[in-house]
Amino acid sequence: MKLFLSLAIAAALWRVGTAQPLSQSSAPASTLIRSARLVDGSGGAARSADLRIAGNRIVAVGRLAAVEGERVYEAGGLMIAPGFIDTHSHHDRGLDTARDAIAMVSQGVTTIVVGQDGGGIDLAATFARLERQPAAVNVASYAGHGAIRDRVMGKDYARAATLAEIEQMQALLRTEMDAGALGLSTGLEYDPGIYATREEVLALARVAGAAGGRYASHIRSEDRWFWDALDELIAIGRQHRMPVHVSHVKLGMHDLWGQAGKLIGILDRARAAGVQLTADIYPYTFWQSNLGVLYPKRNFADRAETEFVLSHVALAEDIIFNSVRAHPDYAGKTLAQVAALRGTPAVQTLMDVLAEPGGESAGIVAKGMSETDVERLIQWPFANVCSDGQSRGLHPRGFGAFARVLGPWVRDKRLFSIEEAVRKMSSLPAANAGIANRGMIAPGYFADLVVFDPSIIADRADFGHAQDLAVGVRTVWVNGQVVFDNGKAANTYAGRPLRRTAKLPR
Ligand SMILES: [Zn+2]
Repeated sequence: MKLFLSLAIAAALWRVGTAQPLSQSSAPASTLIRSARLVDGSGGAARSADLRIAGNRIVAVGRLAAVEGERVYEAGGLMIAPGFIDTHSHHDRGLDTARDAIAMVSQGVTTIVVGQDGGGIDLAATFARLERQPAAVNVASYAGHGAIRDRVMGKDYARAATLAEIEQMQALLRTEMDAGALGLSTGLEYDPGIYATREEVLALARVAGAAGGRYASHIRSEDRWFWDALDELIAIGRQHRMPVHVSHVKLGMHDLWGQAGKLIGILDRARAAGVQLTADIYPYTFWQSNLGVLYPKRNFADRAETEFVLSHVALAEDIIFNSVRAHPDYAGKTLAQVAALRGTPAVQTLMDVLAEPGGESAGIVAKGMSETDVERLIQWPFANVCSDGQSRGLHPRGFGAFARVLGPWVRDKRLFSIEEAVRKMSSLPAANAGIANRGMIAPGYFADLVVFDPSIIADRADFGHAQDLAVGVRTVWVNGQVVFDNGKAANTYAGRPLRRTAKLPR
């Protein structure tokens, strides 16, 4: 019955498929991927199967015989999974000039979600550009609270917004939602979002929720006032009955280390009370941001605050400079090393650097989390894997996050099964970001696929060589076309903008 049903669906899809004009009349109408170890994204056990792609869709899964004229791809027992979905990505920076998206596709990532941390505006233009000049990956986006706030308040942002300004922001957000934003993202640790009241954030989230969108937040504090910041997010989900998502969840302060159990308890209780609460997380203990974020009150000249930062939030030997406008030579050096170089104590050095031009926007990577917490949080069943990565800089996450989970964390440390890892990279992120018809291998889904060798997949990027490509991914398809094969980009730009569609069923 089940088989009959899927055949019927495949047949129906086939009819839909052939009704559309074929773009390449000489190319085979379909591709058979044979002898794969199939992990379908649901979390169910891996099984041996063949799979047929026609056009941009998966049309059949099972024991399949090649049909005449069909292209055949021998998977040779390697694993096939749905293409991975990165729900928190900054890889849109530079994607227009590096359309092969090599950092992503080399790890099997086929969809990125951008517009994070309060960024993301003018999505109609962004999506139109991606249609004219697509990249190798699909791109979905949030509308960013910070960008919208900036448009309304400009340089006069260090205050609560007036009611009239909030209404202007709501109107801008409605435009972005109409353009296809997944929802509203906030970056409440950053300027200008940090100055928004809870009421402002609530008023904007309501607009996103009413349009069938969601709320994703780099919460107001990942260290000093973590629990309060989490409460703010949960309250939005409770009040507006809309999905809420903690971006790159972390216990980012030494005082919080070891409290992953308490955090998971709070998340579980909120879900049990009906809040549609999820999170994403990357497999590293280092975060990347700017110096200013260490000072929520922006009191950079405050010695007591600086002492607090360096003894509770990140140690001088754990802060690595990525880019400092006044000192290009600091790149790659720790604050402790820079202090030695300058001959001043770390506290004084940090205050001095902050007082220099561009000081507060100096890029840094800092160790803020404990490995035990990250390993525990990534196992939370509603936490999907993300990278928070980009294609430049010091942090290896943009080139390694997904391969690091599949290799070192699953194969070597056995944090969870490979089926669960794939679920956390495919169907779960699709659900957590509200992306339809992707993230599963089943007839009718888009043919975003990755073939990889689970026995060798691993990240190669690390500090000092953060752009080294991961190993172990053999072939990647996006919308039915090969975009990566045998270690190389295929120079096929099959990605498309993914606009928010109909409200998904709960
Ligand atoms: Zn963030």
